Amino acid sequence: MSEQTYSFFESVTKSFDKAAKFTTWEQGLLEQIKECNAVYQMKFPIRRDDGSIEVMEAYRVQHSHHKTPCKGGIRFSDEVNQDEVMALAALMTYKCAIVNVPFGGGKGGIKINPRKYSAFELQKITRRYTAELIRKNFIGPGTDVPAPDYGTGEREMAWILDTYVSMHPGEVDAMGCVTGKPVSQGGVRGRKEATGLGVFYGVREVCNMPHLMEKLGLTTGVVSKRVVVQGLGNVGYHTAKFFREHGAKVVAIAEYEGAIFKEDGLNEEEVFQHRKATGSILNFPGAVNLAKSGDALELECDILIPAALENVINGSNAANVKAKIIGEAANGPLTPEADEILVAKGVLVIPDMYLNAGGVTVSYFEWLKNLSHVRYGRMEKRFTENLNRHILGQMEELTGKQVNAVERKFIEHGPDEVDLVYSGLEETMVEATREIVNAWRSNPAIPDMRTAAYVVAINKVGTSYAELGIFP
Ligand code: NAD
Repeated sequence: MSEQTYSFFESVTKSFDKAAKFTTWEQGLLEQIKECNAVYQMKFPIRRDDGSIEVMEAYRVQHSHHKTPCKGGIRFSDEVNQDEVMALAALMTYKCAIVNVPFGGGKGGIKINPRKYSAFELQKITRRYTAELIRKNFIGPGTDVPAPDYGTGEREMAWILDTYVSMHPGEVDAMGCVTGKPVSQGGVRGRKEATGLGVFYGVREVCNMPHLMEKLGLTTGVVSKRVVVQGLGNVGYHTAKFFREHGAKVVAIAEYEGAIFKEDGLNEEEVFQHRKATGSILNFPGAVNLAKSGDALELECDILIPAALENVINGSNAANVKAKIIGEAANGPLTPEADEILVAKGVLVIPDMYLNAGGVTVSYFEWLKNLSHVRYGRMEKRFTENLNRHILGQMEELTGKQVNAVERKFIEHGPDEVDLVYSGLEETMVEATREIVNAWRSNPAIPDMRTAAYVVAINKVGTSYAELGIFP
């Protein structure tokens, strides 16, 4: 039986409508929340290295102006189309609302395969795209703040920044026009690992909830939990790293060429180095090869982390999934049909919409850093260290005892930028998880955590619109 297909924006709308039934907002307001507020499609030419002229197709969508600026990545991909950019922008609105990042959702895209263009061509495309955004007031620290997405990274963000700054001389907050920048260009430490760390914090918080673990027949906490990770890219690598460092066992890792299994746990860095040296994840010392990469998704485990592509768990394999918890690190790894099968099986699906919000959360911290023009920790680090040293000295004098060197270092340490970013991210993910689970518990008719997440998002955006009083 083939699965019913919806456009991406339609399927986001479908999930929204399913959740909206559990809210009390009037229909008109729900329509306003759902629709994209501004869609900008542009075409512009660039001259290629071979002398020919090529016309580019590009988009920027501002899904919601209930809070400004809008926020969302810029994607370079052959697959870019208006529907996809609209859907991704809508998801950004809901994602930001859930993690209390005060932005509306946005997304941008250029329909190119970046591998087919030289660095010089990509620079021309990125700078011209930025100029087009400036022309229509679709970029700026207070209007719309792009970030990296599929096919873009720090390099492209630095080009965007430079183009924006050169066209806005003297604008004191210009650095906040884009996030995901190199640290030397106003970026923030901790951005690279933010999504994986956020996934870890979110799943850990769920694992710390006794009522959920009891239902799944699991003990609380992440220690000794068996984890399978699909995709050893940025998100998968860091998710595996934080799980391992906190006592879980990463029993399998899948890449597109195959998967490996090791009962007593894999070290992601060693696997990464092995793959770098041999060109494949397979034949890792001490591990068993799984010839078909997709088999890893069906392994016996406690937590499955799809961190590669969309639609990897679908109508054809969902029934074979044995994990008790699925943490959606990738965007859209489950099809709607798979979602229904898994929920019916009692699997706990932690939804992508908030679970992979670590990137945008730390982007928010980067934007705040840019607006405040000072590195996190610069003002208080030394003060805190002096104070801690003093308190410790007093305690040692009063008790006549001394703490050991390791404890001394830990207690005296004042926060660096990365400490504060991690701490802010942990608070954000823990808080968001609790809000979603509380919404879910407070209404037994809400069928799953994804719907609960949408309910939280709709209520927050709805409240924001209602309080703005925009409907006279
Ligand atoms: P990435 O390109 O760094 O990593 C993806 C990895 O998946 C690659 O190593 C790739 O080889 C592997 N892969 C591809 N096909 C596979 C297959 N069939 N089986 C197993 N592995 C396969 O990308 P990323 O930044 O880690 O993003 C992964 C997912 O997380 C995407 O869905 C992305 O949209 C989502 N996401 C990323 C971020 C972020 O901050 N990077 C934020 C939110 C969501």
